[in-house]
Amino acid sequence: MTLLAFIIGVVFLAAAVFFVVGLHLMRTPRTARRGNLISAGGMITAVGATLVYAITLSHSHSLGWIALTSGVIVGGTFGVVRSRSVKMTDIPQLVSLFNAVGGGAAAAIAFADFLGRDVSAGLTPSTSVPVVLDVIIGSVSLSGSLIAAGKLQGVIPGQPIQFPGARVVNVVVVLVALGAGGAMIAQPTSWPMLLVVLVASLLFGVLMVLPIGGADAPVVVSLLNAFTGLAVAMAGFVIDNQSMIIAGALVGAAGTILTLQMAKAMNRSVLTIMLGGFGTGDSGSVALGATVTANVREVTADDVGLQLAYARHVIIVPGFGLAASQAQHEVAGLAKLLTDHGIDVKYAIHPVAGRMPGHMNVLLAEANVPYSQMLQLEEANPAFDTCDVALVVGANDVTNPAARRPGNAVSGMPILDVDHATSVVVVKRSMSPGYAGIPNELFSAPQTGMLFDDAKKALGDITLAVKQYVTT
Ligand code: NDP
Repeated sequence: MTLLAFIIGVVFLAAAVFFVVGLHLMRTPRTARRGNLISAGGMITAVGATLVYAITLSHSHSLGWIALTSGVIVGGTFGVVRSRSVKMTDIPQLVSLFNAVGGGAAAAIAFADFLGRDVSAGLTPSTSVPVVLDVIIGSVSLSGSLIAAGKLQGVIPGQPIQFPGARVVNVVVVLVALGAGGAMIAQPTSWPMLLVVLVASLLFGVLMVLPIGGADAPVVVSLLNAFTGLAVAMAGFVIDNQSMIIAGALVGAAGTILTLQMAKAMNRSVLTIMLGGFGTGDSGSVALGATVTANVREVTADDVGLQLAYARHVIIVPGFGLAASQAQHEVAGLAKLLTDHGIDVKYAIHPVAGRMPGHMNVLLAEANVPYSQMLQLEEANPAFDTCDVALVVGANDVTNPAARRPGNAVSGMPILDVDHATSVVVVKRSMSPGYAGIPNELFSAPQTGMLFDDAKKALGDITLAVKQYVTT
């Protein structure tokens, strides 16, 4: 081994250490930003070392590094420009898209590596097994993440897309992918067989995500993220790159833990989610929708201001609408006004409120809301029993009491027990349903008042009204 090769190996190891430290810091919101920067530093180091390796030590000729550098420039530029311009509410789609690219890249590495090898004498299982697994997992992640991104963006309908015999087709496609993969491992000499693995896996990714709908989308995105991690780790084995193995394993493990936690938070098993069929909507949703609409009590910002000014305990329930309206500073301002007048204010954070894991925490942190005011679901629910006013801002599904009974799109999902509060105010623009597409019985409950407006505008008006009452 030359000195340069040794140094590059050490740099790869250092990059892996950056990833581990970065991930460790991401465990709390306070240090997460630093963790993200350190992990990004690790990635830049690893890419830099790869470029040096490609230019100086690789025997795969200049074409390889020309492709690599142009990939870095094109991919890097797209990543920076898109990440800077993306709206906060579109981040889940972007994450899903980045995930697709990661899975696809990992599968492409294995395929290209196989084509570049002299396979006339066969391959050892230590090479052929990772190649096949990488192509399978990476391809499923590529096509599945593209479908998930399409659903989140609304380009593909969010409802489960099912067709007769879908389960049989799924089983056949999986058997083809596994059978062709097995044949490749037994006799790894023919690339058309690897192509069969690739196509069957791509098809499986599509078929796996199409029937998943409504409220289950976040779990699927997280699961596909774990798949991409595993695919990258496999690609690391294929091209013998330690930092890819470690980074991939970290993403795979973190994604798996997040998937299990989210599934738990939504009271679903990952298997039931994968089998599909949720999000079909409530069978009685049309009739229920009419009842909910008929019994709605509308309130004004002035009414809400009066209630808040004379309350002792207030819980704010943020949801997707708060993010859509970018009203985090307005809600934080209102909360500060109330706390300054001795009113106890807390925020109830549902794990899947918004459109990405931790969405509400990030949003509120942006407005410098103290962490001590944020209650997680388990802490928040008992607090609603003694809450005078629950102020729901742009949240819908995560408050829907329909989740407590079977047979609808949110059945079994733990919800925030907003209906246990003495009085409830819901701020949203209309009676439109939330992401899961079903009516919310909370809106017609006797203690609920609906303030129909954009969250930012409504919170501004409520703040003005509160000021009127707390100063007189
Ligand atoms: P919902 O999607 O259930 O509801 C959001 C509500 O916000 C809508 O009913 C909408 O009503 C209202 N709204 C939209 N824009 C505004 C605005 N400018 N001002 C005021 N209100 C507005 O959100 P929740 O947070 O309650 O629930 C999240 C849902 O998304 C769950 O079903 C979850 O499973 C799913 N999901 C979660 C992901 C995650 O990782 N967190 C990822 C993907 C999906 P109106 O139009 O009438 O204003």
